[in-house]
Amino acid sequence: MENLSIKKYKNEFTAAFDGDESGLLNPRQTPGFLYAKTMPTPVKKPELLGWSEDLASELEINTPLEDDLNILGGNLVTPSMYPYAACYAGHQFGNWAGQLGDGRAITLGEWENSKGQTYELQLKGAGPTPYSRRGDGRAVLRSSMREYLMSEAMFYLGVPTTRALALVSTGDQVLRDLFYNGNAAYEPGAIVMRAAPSFLRFGNFEMLAARQDEKNLQKLTDWTIAQFYPHITGAHKVIQWYKEVVEKTATLMVEWIRVGFVHGVMNTDNMSVLGLTIDYGPFSFLDAYDPDFTPNTTDLPGRRYAFGKQHTVAYWNLGCLASAIAPLLDSTEELVAELEAYEHIYFDKYYTMMGNKLGLDKVRQPDRNLVDLFEQTLAQVKPDMTIFFQLLTDLPETMIHAGKNLAGEDILLHFKPCFYAENSAVAADAFCNLIQIYIQRITADHIINPAGRLLRMRAANPRFILRNYLLHMAITDMEKGDPQLFLKLKEALKTPYSSAHDEFFKLRPEWANEQPGSSTLSCSS
Ligand code: AMP
Ligand code: MG
Repeated sequence: MENLSIKKYKNEFTAAFDGDESGLLNPRQTPGFLYAKTMPTPVKKPELLGWSEDLASELEINTPLEDDLNILGGNLVTPSMYPYAACYAGHQFGNWAGQLGDGRAITLGEWENSKGQTYELQLKGAGPTPYSRRGDGRAVLRSSMREYLMSEAMFYLGVPTTRALALVSTGDQVLRDLFYNGNAAYEPGAIVMRAAPSFLRFGNFEMLAARQDEKNLQKLTDWTIAQFYPHITGAHKVIQWYKEVVEKTATLMVEWIRVGFVHGVMNTDNMSVLGLTIDYGPFSFLDAYDPDFTPNTTDLPGRRYAFGKQHTVAYWNLGCLASAIAPLLDSTEELVAELEAYEHIYFDKYYTMMGNKLGLDKVRQPDRNLVDLFEQTLAQVKPDMTIFFQLLTDLPETMIHAGKNLAGEDILLHFKPCFYAENSAVAADAFCNLIQIYIQRITADHIINPAGRLLRMRAANPRFILRNYLLHMAITDMEKGDPQLFLKLKEALKTPYSSAHDEFFKLRPEWANEQPGSSTLSCSS
């Protein structure tokens, strides 16, 4: 175990590539460079609000003392750190946005533990960088609490993600126009220390491709493979790497669907080449099941990043990555083939995952139709997704064995706790029909192994999810100086598949329906 302030950090990325070493903070293009040396801007009084004990012990990091706290606030940079902001580009809402870069993230160094695991430690909200454009490089408590809790929640759900080690308040105020309507107000500032093997995005490769800097494009690709995909070697490694990114991205999309997660801003600069959930902004878990739901108010006109579209956007984004690395290959044929394989890979993983959510022993072709029927019917009825799957798991044996005698009324009564509104007669019929078909299907499995269904379902369906309204309440309390709910959620998210936190097992309350921050969010963070 070591302290943040005593550790000797590694700096492999900055050692391998050229960066702008001027240390200047003015917004600018940095042609020829993959990053810019950037010192964090000190804050008034860093105070520790959150510390992820499990991650700290995995990385072998001691609970922060005073010097460590100054590191978390950006007030101290130790001699072995090389603080930098990465330069990347990206497609935002489908349009090429040119150079973007870490506008408010500063990597301090790479932390290696005694097992040889290496994590990049990055401050989010530590002040301006050359890539801040018109932004201030800061983050508010609201968005920092959201990223801190949600990235940890995703980890414990088993979804690939970047992690959060610490959350500090800065003692400074930050000006934000929450509704983009000219009514800017001061909010408390905060900083999250994030951790991941790498924060490299599709956009880092797009940046080099746009600059036609083939030398660095090749070097970054080779470096990424050597560092994070070391099993890939040989003459065909670039295409093999792309194939694995496709596969990891497909897995990530399926995992998001499994838990009902909507990212909200799937721009290519927010797509990790390690297949991690990255850059938590206006995200949400689904309350009511709705494929058209987008939590991001900026996304409302087109709903490009809606829940049900995420897998197709991922494909589009993978197309951008393919275009970026195409100059490294003699022909684009194989690249196109790997990209086109995405759909098949995705749907295979999707139906397997849905089979687990439904507790099926195997997913055969007719089961795919059953999964499709679930999707259609749930979109029609819009029950609370999490509660619905729990009630499906807990179908009483008496209902399962009633067969054709099972009355629609009994079905509707059992599922009542997951409905947000009275169903129309048509919707109620469709719902009952679905459950009848489902019961017929599982009865066949049941004869062989009744316990198998429950095991699969309990492992695939979370019971506790970090709903936006809970985050909103925790934030409001924390802004008033009360950390209780924050600390409670921080514990609850560690066991999302258990019933230990059933005080939160209920529908989203009505007051939260139109409450900004509870149902929809802006990017203003
Ligand atoms: P996002 O969609 O939140 O991942 O951000 C898109 C781009 O805007 C990235 O380059 C961010 O670094 C930058 N950005 C977002 N908020 C700020 C801010 N407050 N100050 C500077 N840059 C920002
Ligand atoms: Mg981003």
